[in-house]
Amino acid sequence: MKVGVPKEIKTHEYRVGLTPGAVREYVAAGHSVLVETNAGAGIGAADDNYRKAGATILSSAREVFTSSEMIVKVKEPQPSEWTWLRENQILFTYLHLAPDPEQAKGLLKSGCTAIAYETVTDAQGGLPLLAPMSEVAGRLAIEAAGAALRRSAGGRGLLIGGVPGVQPARIVVIGGGVVGTHAARMAAGLGAEVTILDRSIPRLRELDELFEGRVRTRFSTIDAVEEEVFAADVVIGAVLVPGASAPKLVTRGMLGSMRKGSVVVDVAIDQGGCFETSRPTTHAEPTYEVDGVIHYCVANMPGAVPLTSSQALNNATLPFGLALANKGFGAVLVNPHLRAGLNVYRGRLTYKAVAESLGLPF
Ligand code: NAD
Repeated sequence: MKVGVPKEIKTHEYRVGLTPGAVREYVAAGHSVLVETNAGAGIGAADDNYRKAGATILSSAREVFTSSEMIVKVKEPQPSEWTWLRENQILFTYLHLAPDPEQAKGLLKSGCTAIAYETVTDAQGGLPLLAPMSEVAGRLAIEAAGAALRRSAGGRGLLIGGVPGVQPARIVVIGGGVVGTHAARMAAGLGAEVTILDRSIPRLRELDELFEGRVRTRFSTIDAVEEEVFAADVVIGAVLVPGASAPKLVTRGMLGSMRKGSVVVDVAIDQGGCFETSRPTTHAEPTYEVDGVIHYCVANMPGAVPLTSSQALNNATLPFGLALANKGFGAVLVNPHLRAGLNVYRGRLTYKAVAESLGLPF
């Protein structure tokens, strides 16, 4: 199959659909890969790296779209790209169609077959193409907290791990899923005192076993959140209630009792955030202060580390992408996890929740 990789054009998106390493896998499986010139610039991959991996470099996005049977991207296609998509072409990328009626119209009109990374499933009931970005965001949350705790950034002037004879930071992680686990792992690795709160007792049991006593676990109630937040130097918001906005677990009142210069990192900001005082920020201006507490609320945290993020994303998408390249649409028919990813098929929406939220026929 001819597989196309355009350069991402959404503002501040530096990741790339296929890394040179992934291209080599597609080529080894007998496919042709067409890459737009400079597609890998954001991760330091030059056209020559792609040529060495076996790709053909094309000079424009238009050529890539019009010459390929499948397009592999990172972000949802932008308006100029909708017009180049066509019937019988497969689009494999993050789509997040539910809040985006304009994009939905564009994709439906194109007649393409669109498989959304965010709804592809795995045998454990997880979302394998979302998980790597949660891993990145969770780990990055602790780096962000460490930077914000510095005095020069308005923080308490505290080193996360302390030093011998000086106590480390107290870090509270609300939500012990993928983000929360990776945040806790980083925090514990740096020597912080870490507590994870979650509503799921089975999950708390798993975390207790995983961290072997290195991290405290606590059932998440209003009382528990309040007590932990009051005593914390850093609070990481990492909850998710599938299909709903994040619950506001930390109120402005609770924040007022935190020490000045403490830090909150609201990773769940892409679902509205779990702190009452959160509002989305950008990498250009990632933090702001409310009641003396520094807030970090960047909605696309993995964008800060496009090299790691692209590699992690490619590792996860590779088996699915290769299946699509090998079997075409047939792969969707035989693989229920790819079928779960199918959002648009030849002018029809094929994902119930997306159709319902857009008020369009399913
Ligand atoms: P996940 O489903 O793996 O974990 C969520 C956890 O929250 C679950 O363990 C669940 O039991 C727990 N939870 C639900 N309600 C709770 C409550 N009231 N108190 C405590 N815990 C509760 O989800 P995830 O992959 O870890 O993602 C977490 C959030 O981070 C999501 O909103 C996701 O969209 C977001 N995210 C943001 C970025 C970013 O760049 N900002 C990147 C990746 C993920």
